[in-house]
Amino acid sequence: MGEFELIRRYFQRALTRPDVILGVGDDCALLRVPTGQELAVSLDLLVGGRHFLADADPEGVGYKALAVNLSDLAAMGAEPAWATLGLTLPAADEQWLRGFCHGFYTLAEQHDVALVGGDTTRGPLAIAVQVHGFVPPGQALRRAGARPGDRILVTGTPGDAGLALRQTLGQTVVAAEHHDYLRRRLDRPTPRIAQGLALRGLASAAIDVSDGLAQDLGHILAASGVGATLWLARLPLSAALRAVPAELAWDCALSGGDDYELCLTVSPERLERVLQEAAGWDCPLTEIGVIELEPGLRCLRPDGTLYRPERVGYDHFA
Ligand code: ADP
Ligand code: MG
Repeated sequence: MGEFELIRRYFQRALTRPDVILGVGDDCALLRVPTGQELAVSLDLLVGGRHFLADADPEGVGYKALAVNLSDLAAMGAEPAWATLGLTLPAADEQWLRGFCHGFYTLAEQHDVALVGGDTTRGPLAIAVQVHGFVPPGQALRRAGARPGDRILVTGTPGDAGLALRQTLGQTVVAAEHHDYLRRRLDRPTPRIAQGLALRGLASAAIDVSDGLAQDLGHILAASGVGATLWLARLPLSAALRAVPAELAWDCALSGGDDYELCLTVSPERLERVLQEAAGWDCPLTEIGVIELEPGLRCLRPDGTLYRPERVGYDHFA
Protein backbone atom coordinates (compact mmCIF):
# COMPACT_ATOMS: atom_id res chain seq x y z
CA MET A 1 0.00 0.00 0.00
CA GLY A 2 1.50 3.33 -1.08
CA GLU A 3 0.99 6.77 0.44
CA PHE A 4 -1.93 7.74 -1.78
CA GLU A 5 -3.74 4.42 -1.38
CA LEU A 6 -3.26 4.75 2.39
CA ILE A 7 -4.79 8.23 2.40
CA ARG A 8 -7.68 7.15 0.20
CA ARG A 9 -8.38 4.05 2.28
CA TYR A 10 -8.17 5.60 5.75
CA PHE A 11 -8.63 9.33 5.58
CA GLN A 12 -10.91 10.07 2.64
CA ARG A 13 -14.43 9.71 3.94
CA ALA A 14 -17.74 11.04 2.69
CA LEU A 15 -18.33 14.65 3.68
CA THR A 16 -20.93 15.26 6.33
CA ARG A 17 -20.76 19.01 6.85
CA PRO A 18 -22.18 21.53 4.39
CA ASP A 19 -19.45 24.04 5.37
CA VAL A 20 -16.80 21.76 3.80
CA ILE A 21 -16.73 22.75 0.14
CA LEU A 22 -13.75 20.48 -0.62
CA GLY A 23 -12.15 17.98 1.76
CA VAL A 24 -9.34 15.42 1.44
CA GLY A 25 -7.98 14.92 -2.08
CA ASP A 26 -6.87 18.25 -3.47
CA ASP A 27 -3.96 20.57 -2.62
CA CYS A 28 -6.06 22.41 -0.04
CA ALA A 29 -9.39 21.97 1.67
CA LEU A 30 -11.98 24.66 1.00
CA LEU A 31 -14.00 25.63 4.05
CA ARG A 32 -16.71 28.14 4.82
CA VAL A 33 -16.63 29.96 8.17
CA PRO A 34 -20.22 30.93 9.09
CA THR A 35 -20.93 34.62 8.58
CA GLY A 36 -20.27 36.66 11.69
CA GLN A 37 -18.27 34.00 13.56
CA GLU A 38 -14.62 33.91 14.57
CA LEU A 39 -12.44 30.91 13.75
CA ALA A 40 -10.74 29.27 16.78
CA VAL A 41 -7.68 27.19 15.81
CA SER A 42 -5.50 24.92 17.93
CA LEU A 43 -2.84 22.26 17.30
CA ASP A 44 -1.43 19.54 19.53
CA LEU A 45 1.48 17.24 18.85
CA LEU A 46 1.67 13.70 20.24
CA VAL A 47 5.00 11.90 19.98
CA GLY A 48 5.28 8.12 20.34
CA GLY A 49 7.38 7.16 23.34
CA ARG A 50 6.81 10.58 24.90
CA HIS A 51 3.07 11.28 25.04
CA PHE A 52 2.07 7.65 24.64
CA LEU A 53 3.94 4.35 24.61
CA ALA A 54 4.98 3.34 21.10
CA ASP A 55 3.09 0.05 21.54
CA ALA A 56 -0.03 1.75 22.98
CA ASP A 57 -3.44 0.60 21.74
CA PRO A 58 -3.86 2.54 18.43
CA GLU A 59 -7.59 3.06 19.02
CA GLY A 60 -6.83 4.88 22.26
CA VAL A 61 -4.12 6.94 20.53
CA GLY A 62 -6.55 7.98 17.77
CA TYR A 63 -9.20 8.91 20.30
CA LYS A 64 -6.87 10.88 22.54
CA ALA A 65 -5.12 12.70 19.68
CA LEU A 66 -8.45 14.31 18.80
CA ALA A 67 -9.76 14.55 22.38
CA VAL A 68 -6.89 16.74 23.63
CA ASN A 69 -7.49 19.12 20.75
CA LEU A 70 -11.25 19.28 21.24
CA SER A 71 -10.51 20.07 24.87
CA ASP A 72 -8.71 23.24 23.74
CA LEU A 73 -11.77 24.28 21.73
CA ALA A 74 -13.94 23.56 24.78
CA ALA A 75 -11.72 25.74 26.95
CA MET A 76 -12.22 28.59 24.48
CA GLY A 77 -16.00 28.14 24.28
CA ALA A 78 -15.71 27.23 20.59
CA GLU A 79 -17.96 24.86 18.67
CA PRO A 80 -15.87 22.18 16.88
CA ALA A 81 -16.07 21.92 13.10
CA TRP A 82 -12.99 20.67 11.25
CA ALA A 83 -9.71 18.84 11.85
CA THR A 84 -6.50 18.26 9.93
CA LEU A 85 -4.10 15.43 10.69
CA GLY A 86 -0.33 15.18 10.28
CA LEU A 87 0.93 11.64 10.66
CA THR A 88 4.43 10.16 10.57
CA LEU A 89 4.47 6.36 10.67
CA PRO A 90 7.42 3.95 10.77
CA ALA A 91 5.51 1.70 8.31
CA ALA A 92 2.10 1.50 6.61
CA ASP A 93 0.78 -0.79 9.34
CA GLU A 94 -2.85 -1.46 8.41
CA GLN A 95 -3.79 -2.92 11.76
CA TRP A 96 -2.47 0.19 13.51
CA LEU A 97 -4.22 2.49 11.01
CA ARG A 98 -7.56 0.69 11.41
CA GLY A 99 -7.39 1.02 15.18
CA PHE A 100 -6.25 4.64 15.03
CA CYS A 101 -9.05 5.59 12.62
CA HIS A 102 -11.65 3.81 14.71
CA GLY A 103 -10.70 5.83 17.81
CA PHE A 104 -10.33 9.10 15.90
CA TYR A 105 -13.55 8.89 13.86
CA THR A 106 -15.66 7.64 16.78
CA LEU A 107 -14.96 10.83 18.68
CA ALA A 108 -15.09 12.98 15.52
CA GLU A 109 -18.60 11.72 14.76
CA GLN A 110 -19.75 12.42 18.32
CA HIS A 111 -18.90 16.08 17.82
CA ASP A 112 -19.65 16.33 14.08
CA VAL A 113 -16.00 17.09 13.29
CA ALA A 114 -14.92 16.59 9.65
CA LEU A 115 -11.36 15.53 8.84
CA VAL A 116 -10.61 17.80 5.89
CA GLY A 117 -6.91 17.27 5.18
CA GLY A 118 -3.45 16.49 6.45
CA ASP A 119 -0.11 15.06 5.54
CA THR A 120 1.32 11.55 5.80
CA THR A 121 5.00 10.59 5.73
CA ARG A 122 7.26 7.81 6.91
CA GLY A 123 9.15 8.51 10.14
CA PRO A 124 9.10 7.97 13.89
CA LEU A 125 5.51 7.64 15.14
CA ALA A 126 4.09 11.12 15.74
CA ILE A 127 0.66 12.70 15.35
CA ALA A 128 -0.27 16.34 14.92
CA VAL A 129 -3.95 17.25 14.99
CA GLN A 130 -5.22 20.74 14.27
CA VAL A 131 -8.80 21.59 15.09
CA HIS A 132 -10.96 24.48 13.97
CA GLY A 133 -14.10 25.74 15.63
CA PHE A 134 -16.45 28.71 15.67
CA VAL A 135 -17.15 31.29 18.33
CA PRO A 136 -19.23 34.48 18.15
CA PRO A 137 -17.06 37.65 18.18
CA GLY A 138 -15.98 38.67 21.67
CA GLN A 139 -17.39 35.55 23.34
CA ALA A 140 -14.31 33.32 23.44
CA LEU A 141 -13.28 32.23 26.96
CA ARG A 142 -9.76 33.54 27.42
CA ARG A 143 -7.14 33.04 30.11
CA ALA A 144 -6.97 36.75 30.86
CA GLY A 145 -10.14 38.02 32.52
CA ALA A 146 -10.10 36.70 36.10
CA ARG A 147 -10.69 39.45 38.68
CA PRO A 148 -10.14 39.45 42.47
CA GLY A 149 -13.26 38.03 44.13
CA ASP A 150 -14.09 35.73 41.19
CA ARG A 151 -14.74 32.14 42.19
CA ILE A 152 -12.60 29.31 40.77
CA LEU A 153 -14.48 26.24 39.53
CA VAL A 154 -13.52 22.95 37.95
CA THR A 155 -15.49 20.35 35.96
CA GLY A 156 -15.41 16.63 36.73
CA THR A 157 -12.94 15.05 39.13
CA PRO A 158 -9.38 16.17 38.35
CA GLY A 159 -6.53 13.90 39.42
CA ASP A 160 -7.93 10.62 38.07
CA ALA A 161 -5.59 10.56 35.05
CA GLY A 162 -2.60 11.38 37.25
CA LEU A 163 -3.47 8.55 39.64
CA ALA A 164 -3.98 6.19 36.68
CA LEU A 165 -0.51 7.05 35.38
CA ARG A 166 1.16 6.51 38.77
CA GLN A 167 -0.62 3.19 39.07
CA THR A 168 0.42 2.13 35.55
CA LEU A 169 4.04 3.07 36.30
CA GLY A 170 3.91 1.01 39.51
CA GLN A 171 4.42 4.08 41.74
CA THR A 172 1.15 3.64 43.60
CA VAL A 173 -1.02 0.70 44.50
CA VAL A 174 -4.74 1.26 43.90
CA ALA A 175 -7.53 -1.18 44.77
CA ALA A 176 -8.49 -3.34 41.77
CA GLU A 177 -12.10 -2.09 41.81
CA HIS A 178 -10.86 1.31 40.57
CA HIS A 179 -8.54 0.12 37.78
CA ASP A 180 -11.04 0.17 34.88
CA TYR A 181 -12.39 3.57 35.87
CA LEU A 182 -8.90 5.09 36.16
CA ARG A 183 -7.74 3.56 32.86
CA ARG A 184 -10.73 5.07 31.08
CA ARG A 185 -10.08 8.48 32.60
CA LEU A 186 -6.48 8.38 31.33
CA ASP A 187 -7.10 6.85 27.89
CA ARG A 188 -10.52 8.28 27.02
CA PRO A 189 -10.74 11.81 28.43
CA THR A 190 -14.06 13.52 27.71
CA PRO A 191 -13.60 16.92 26.07
CA ARG A 192 -16.01 19.26 27.88
CA ILE A 193 -17.45 20.78 24.72
CA ALA A 194 -21.03 21.31 25.92
CA GLN A 195 -19.73 22.89 29.13
CA GLY A 196 -17.46 25.29 27.24
CA LEU A 197 -20.36 26.39 25.03
CA ALA A 198 -22.65 26.87 28.04
CA LEU A 199 -20.03 29.02 29.79
CA ARG A 200 -19.81 31.57 26.96
CA GLY A 201 -20.70 34.96 28.34
CA LEU A 202 -20.64 33.59 31.92
CA ALA A 203 -17.04 32.63 32.78
CA SER A 204 -14.52 35.45 33.19
CA ALA A 205 -11.60 33.14 32.26
CA ALA A 206 -11.10 29.48 31.37
CA ILE A 207 -8.42 26.91 30.55
CA ASP A 208 -8.40 23.17 30.05
CA VAL A 209 -6.43 21.20 32.63
CA SER A 210 -3.80 19.27 30.71
CA ASP A 211 -0.79 19.77 33.00
CA GLY A 212 -2.42 19.71 36.46
CA LEU A 213 -4.66 22.25 38.17
CA ALA A 214 -1.81 24.16 39.83
CA GLN A 215 0.05 24.86 36.60
CA ASP A 216 -2.99 25.48 34.42
CA LEU A 217 -4.73 27.71 36.94
CA GLY A 218 -1.32 29.40 37.18
CA HIS A 219 -1.65 30.33 33.49
CA ILE A 220 -4.99 32.04 34.20
CA LEU A 221 -3.42 33.88 37.15
CA ALA A 222 -0.42 35.04 35.10
CA ALA A 223 -2.54 36.12 32.12
CA SER A 224 -5.00 37.95 34.40
CA GLY A 225 -2.35 39.50 36.70
CA VAL A 226 -3.92 38.08 39.88
CA GLY A 227 -3.36 35.37 42.53
CA ALA A 228 -5.60 32.76 44.14
CA THR A 229 -6.38 30.54 47.09
CA LEU A 230 -7.51 26.96 46.55
CA TRP A 231 -9.31 25.03 49.31
CA LEU A 232 -8.10 21.44 49.13
CA ALA A 233 -11.07 20.27 51.21
CA ARG A 234 -13.30 21.37 48.30
CA LEU A 235 -11.47 19.44 45.57
CA PRO A 236 -14.01 17.11 43.92
CA LEU A 237 -12.28 13.74 44.25
CA SER A 238 -13.51 10.53 42.62
CA ALA A 239 -14.02 7.38 44.70
CA ALA A 240 -10.64 6.15 43.40
CA LEU A 241 -8.87 9.29 44.68
CA ARG A 242 -10.74 9.22 47.99
CA ALA A 243 -9.36 5.71 48.50
CA VAL A 244 -5.70 6.88 48.50
CA PRO A 245 -3.95 9.06 51.12
CA ALA A 246 -5.14 12.69 51.00
CA GLU A 247 -1.74 14.17 50.10
CA LEU A 248 -1.39 11.78 47.16
CA ALA A 249 -4.90 12.65 45.99
CA TRP A 250 -4.13 16.38 46.20
CA ASP A 251 -0.88 15.92 44.29
CA CYS A 252 -2.67 14.00 41.54
CA ALA A 253 -5.28 16.75 41.24
CA LEU A 254 -2.82 19.65 41.48
CA SER A 255 0.12 18.28 39.50
CA GLY A 256 -1.09 15.11 37.76
CA GLY A 257 -1.95 16.30 34.28
CA ASP A 258 -3.89 14.68 31.42
CA ASP A 259 -7.30 15.40 32.99
CA TYR A 260 -8.78 17.61 30.25
CA GLU A 261 -11.29 19.09 32.65
CA LEU A 262 -12.10 22.80 32.48
CA CYS A 263 -10.88 25.23 35.14
CA LEU A 264 -12.74 28.53 35.06
CA THR A 265 -13.44 31.68 36.98
CA VAL A 266 -16.83 33.30 37.49
CA SER A 267 -17.74 36.64 39.07
CA PRO A 268 -19.73 36.35 42.35
CA GLU A 269 -22.80 37.88 40.63
CA ARG A 270 -22.86 35.13 38.02
CA LEU A 271 -22.01 32.20 40.29
CA GLU A 272 -25.61 31.25 41.03
CA ARG A 273 -26.51 31.21 37.33
CA VAL A 274 -23.50 29.13 36.40
CA LEU A 275 -24.23 26.55 39.11
CA GLN A 276 -27.86 26.38 37.98
CA GLU A 277 -26.70 25.84 34.41
CA ALA A 278 -24.33 23.09 35.57
CA ALA A 279 -27.08 21.21 37.40
CA GLY A 280 -28.10 19.79 34.02
CA TRP A 281 -24.59 18.64 33.03
CA ASP A 282 -23.29 15.08 32.92
CA CYS A 283 -20.30 16.06 35.09
CA PRO A 284 -20.08 18.00 38.35
CA LEU A 285 -18.97 21.64 38.49
CA THR A 286 -17.35 22.50 41.81
CA GLU A 287 -16.25 25.73 43.45
CA ILE A 288 -12.68 25.16 44.67
CA GLY A 289 -11.22 28.57 45.38
CA VAL A 290 -11.18 32.32 44.94
CA ILE A 291 -9.18 34.83 42.91
CA GLU A 292 -7.21 37.37 44.95
CA LEU A 293 -5.18 40.50 44.33
CA GLU A 294 -2.02 39.03 45.89
CA PRO A 295 0.00 37.18 43.21
CA GLY A 296 0.78 33.48 43.57
CA LEU A 297 -1.24 30.35 44.28
CA ARG A 298 -1.99 29.33 47.87
CA CYS A 299 -3.34 25.84 48.50
CA LEU A 300 -4.97 25.46 51.92
CA ARG A 301 -5.32 22.15 53.72
CA PRO A 302 -8.64 21.40 55.46
CA ASP A 303 -7.06 22.66 58.72
CA GLY A 304 -6.18 25.99 57.08
CA THR A 305 -2.39 25.44 56.87
CA LEU A 306 -0.51 25.96 53.63
CA TYR A 307 0.16 22.95 51.40
CA ARG A 308 3.00 22.89 48.87
CA PRO A 309 2.41 20.59 45.88
CA GLU A 310 5.22 18.09 45.30
CA ARG A 311 5.88 19.49 41.82
CA VAL A 312 3.88 21.90 39.77
CA GLY A 313 2.64 20.41 36.51
CA TYR A 314 4.64 19.19 33.58
CA ASP A 315 7.16 21.06 31.46
CA HIS A 316 8.61 19.29 28.39
CA PHE A 317 11.85 21.26 28.59
CA ALA A 318 12.34 21.34 32.36
P1 ADP B 1 0.36 17.50 -1.24
O1 ADP B 1 1.50 16.78 -1.90
O2 ADP B 1 -0.31 18.53 -2.10
O3 ADP B 1 0.69 17.97 0.15
P2 ADP B 1 -0.63 15.02 -0.34
O4 ADP B 1 -0.34 13.97 -1.35
O5 ADP B 1 0.26 15.15 0.83
O6 ADP B 1 -0.78 16.40 -1.09
O7 ADP B 1 -2.11 14.81 0.19
C1 ADP B 1 -3.16 14.51 -0.69
C2 ADP B 1 -4.45 14.83 -0.02
O8 ADP B 1 -4.63 13.98 1.09
C3 ADP B 1 -4.51 16.25 0.49
O9 ADP B 1 -5.85 16.71 0.32
C4 ADP B 1 -4.22 16.10 1.97
O10 ADP B 1 -4.86 17.11 2.73
C5 ADP B 1 -4.79 14.74 2.26
N1 ADP B 1 -4.11 14.03 3.35
C6 ADP B 1 -2.84 13.56 3.39
N2 ADP B 1 -2.57 12.93 4.54
C7 ADP B 1 -3.69 13.02 5.29
C8 ADP B 1 -4.06 12.58 6.59
N3 ADP B 1 -3.20 11.94 7.40
N4 ADP B 1 -5.31 12.86 7.03
C9 ADP B 1 -6.17 13.53 6.26
N5 ADP B 1 -5.90 13.95 5.02
C10 ADP B 1 -4.68 13.71 4.54
MG1 MG C 1 1.43 16.53 1.58
